[in-house]
Amino acid sequence: MEKEIEVRLRREYIPDGVKGRPADFWLLYDSNINQDRFIGDPQIVRSLDSIFLENKERDKKMAEHLTMCGILSEKHRVRSYWLSSVKNALSAPVKLFFNPSGKCPNKCLTCFAQDRKKCHLDNNTARRAMKQITEMPIFWMNLGGCELSYYPLYFEFAEQGLKHGIHVTTAISGTGLTENWAKKAKDFGIKIKVSLDGPKEINDIQRPNTYEAAIRAIELFRDISYPVRINMVHTRLNNSEKVIDEMFEIVKKHGAAGIDLSLCRPKGGAIDNDLMISFGDYQNGKVKSVVDRLLNHPDVKEGGIKVWINKNQRTLDRLDAKPCQALNIHCNGGRYSMGINPDGIIDACIFLPPEYIPKANINTPELFTNPSFILDIWRRDKIFKKVRTYTKEKLCIRCQKKRIEFVRGCKACAAYYGDIDPLTLLH
Ligand code: SF4
Ligand code: SF4
Repeated sequence: MEKEIEVRLRREYIPDGVKGRPADFWLLYDSNINQDRFIGDPQIVRSLDSIFLENKERDKKMAEHLTMCGILSEKHRVRSYWLSSVKNALSAPVKLFFNPSGKCPNKCLTCFAQDRKKCHLDNNTARRAMKQITEMPIFWMNLGGCELSYYPLYFEFAEQGLKHGIHVTTAISGTGLTENWAKKAKDFGIKIKVSLDGPKEINDIQRPNTYEAAIRAIELFRDISYPVRINMVHTRLNNSEKVIDEMFEIVKKHGAAGIDLSLCRPKGGAIDNDLMISFGDYQNGKVKSVVDRLLNHPDVKEGGIKVWINKNQRTLDRLDAKPCQALNIHCNGGRYSMGINPDGIIDACIFLPPEYIPKANINTPELFTNPSFILDIWRRDKIFKKVRTYTKEKLCIRCQKKRIEFVRGCKACAAYYGDIDPLTLLH
């Protein structure tokens, strides 16, 4: 029998956030393709609206309608939501980074959570937060914050999310990974990434003594027919086409699914250990050539190896990737995503400068008395509102012409490099 898949569907209204797109739309997260989908066709929107408002067997009828329109191709169960809109943001986060524990035996130089290594939410608080997360209309959760093969509540939370239609992803270093853990992750359908920043001589500088564990982890998942992505943090040390070529060899030799390159952001170890890519390397085109090599590598075109890259870098013209389809901007922090950290802090993006980090903290009795405490932060917190004003700043001429707003750049990088966002040099 065909397996039923739950899909979450949400009504949105963003008059100012969407350029060249309808302001009224439904947003759907299809875990099959691991992507949110924007439904803006006015006729379909109207039909979905009236089904929602009818209020009788709403979700069943929604599913039937979406199948009829060819939007859902399989047997899906739908769970629909319609909250009042939030200025300059989605009505609730789509993506939530839930980091309940900072405990980790590794000492990665790139670690942005160095100052939270001793932090750990107490189990009651973590469970209560997880309950609220499950009840929020989010679409996917990145469960992380430490080496989670050590976190005792990991599978409890992953299962809770997945059971309610929330897509779950986790990045691991491989340290402490057991076959049982890997098999369980596979059975649950959790998307796993393994962190590896280069060949041994580079990886073991950035992530001391983790190379062997990462390779073992990649092979272990390959052996259980559940190939993982390699999660590579792009820093000053591995910013070379040669390293990219070596990474493709590692993928082929050890059986990973592909490479996910994420830009090193200005936080914690990246700054303390001087790992940020220099601004000069953006200006002289070196970063762009590395990105080009990754995206156009012969193994991608002919060998079926997949690559993923930060959404902001995907704004390169030739890529038809839409960062956040709903908002048409690339910086998701506070508009599309939010985070909960092991010290309890709720933020729009962990990399933002201090003036953009909210004071809100889940270590408060209110978490237990207000069932929508976390969602209320998203909707009402003053700092979240401030983060969202960022896209209101001036766009470059090229983006204005294209009527896109997503190349506004990364606020965290802009603050670090001194107002000129290096990411704008990539398009
Ligand atoms: S494995 Fe992750 S949490 Fe642990 S030190 Fe490395 S980056 Fe930090
Ligand atoms: S501030 Fe930068 S790192 Fe944070 S969400 Fe925006 S683009 Fe991403």
